Amino acid sequence: MSATSKKVRVRFAPSPTGYLHVGGVRTLLFNYLFAKRMGGTLVLRIEDTDQARSTRASEKMVLEDIAQLGMSPDEGPLQGGPHAPYRQSDRMAIYSEHARKLLEQDQAYFCFCTAETISQKREAALKLGRVPHYDGTCARISRTESESRIRNGERAGLRFRVPARPVVLEDAVRGRIEFAVGTVGDFMITRSPTPEEMAKSVRTGEIDVGMPVYNFCCVIDDYLMEITHVIRGEDHLSNTARQLMVYEGFGWSKPVFAHTAMVLGSDRQKLSKRNGDVSARDYLTKGYLPEALLNFLALLGWWPPQGVQPKSGHPEVLGLQELAQVFDLSGLQKAPAVFDMQKLAWMNGFYIKSMDKLERLKQSQSFLSEPVLKRWSADQLAEWLDMLQGDVSTLGEWNAQLEPYLDEALKWTPEVLVQFQSESGRTVLKALETDLETSAPLKELPARVGKTTGFKGKNLFMPLRLAVTAQSHGPELGRVFELLGREVMKHRLNELQIVLKRQGV
Ligand code: GLU
Repeated sequence: MSATSKKVRVRFAPSPTGYLHVGGVRTLLFNYLFAKRMGGTLVLRIEDTDQARSTRASEKMVLEDIAQLGMSPDEGPLQGGPHAPYRQSDRMAIYSEHARKLLEQDQAYFCFCTAETISQKREAALKLGRVPHYDGTCARISRTESESRIRNGERAGLRFRVPARPVVLEDAVRGRIEFAVGTVGDFMITRSPTPEEMAKSVRTGEIDVGMPVYNFCCVIDDYLMEITHVIRGEDHLSNTARQLMVYEGFGWSKPVFAHTAMVLGSDRQKLSKRNGDVSARDYLTKGYLPEALLNFLALLGWWPPQGVQPKSGHPEVLGLQELAQVFDLSGLQKAPAVFDMQKLAWMNGFYIKSMDKLERLKQSQSFLSEPVLKRWSADQLAEWLDMLQGDVSTLGEWNAQLEPYLDEALKWTPEVLVQFQSESGRTVLKALETDLETSAPLKELPARVGKTTGFKGKNLFMPLRLAVTAQSHGPELGRVFELLGREVMKHRLNELQIVLKRQGV
């Protein structure tokens, strides 16, 4: 059966060496959407063979972020599944067994070169303007000699014997790529164990084949886990060349590869801490909604097919389910995509505006400050957020927007106070005071004051708004007054008048 006619199985394979990067979220997203679209299975595999850099704390964080983003896998360390274990450090015996096979078939050989020698040779090659390749020092050492050196305590890893023929990749995004002979030199599939690892290893009489490295484990796992499509960033292309050789070495069928375009920062450099936030968690804590973030990331290097009409009415705003209905590898682009923060903010704002009042409050709750939560009831808060929805682009901005409406003392700056020196300012203030003594609905207060004073537009609204909020801009005044309530308005007016009197206005 060819890879494409099998039931789709894709994987996301993070290395738990830090936080979950937004680029990683995009890779996961493409895999998630493809699995959903094809009725396939998403596998999560933890690639922690680099024990020096991997931590359980990071793994936990990555798994939490994935859950919060709403893209839980079908199989993985938490879910289990038919190909468990899903953590590479728990699969070491599988890798050793496969490494041994390549050794038996003379497709791999022991390499005793130390890291220092390799890096010296590398530098020498670079100085001569050559692509640094392993020079084959250990390629001709016989098996018997290598094994006796290892038994005598020397340390060695295994190198794959790169065949003298080109390797061809038929990539679903980039088309045919040929890696000519000489592009890749003999590469490590296991590294030599450290003295500590040597001391720890159980002596079984079998020769130690070293500690497996990413390019090797990845192939073994993708094959054994029956992965049909490998969707990952194009920065992995040089790994793919090596991985294809390992597939061929074992005589295994290969998955379909789809290498997605890179994501660049606004400075057109690789997206990194220097040109923006890179951790998914940073965005979530700032109040970007998972769905908006995913929508934004989906459009970095992928474009929906023609004729898609999203429910949002906007061609670029597609919810996760909608994306899953239309996602196709053919929409993946070759050109690098630029991470445009302003567009993300706009999109997040769009999602905030599109939510219904109660859902908006529910999602915002954990972002609201103590004083805000104490001051208003859930119903009132839902109204406040509804009213201020056009003024925020993240949920983290609510508090700053709500601050002027809290009961704290208002800041009467000279620029505010000067407004009440004019005739219109004084007249409007007086009319406001009189109106507050009645019980007429606050929503229509601005209209009534307009009528009694004869002032309109800025001359009416500016002093009214300033008197009660000390802000020169804000949402519809009638709604603000209604939500603040008569007592708060009276209190504020009173405070203002004391200040004005003190200043002799
Ligand atoms: N562990 C690799 C990484 O995080 C995964 C690469 C792959 O998808 O094969 O970069």
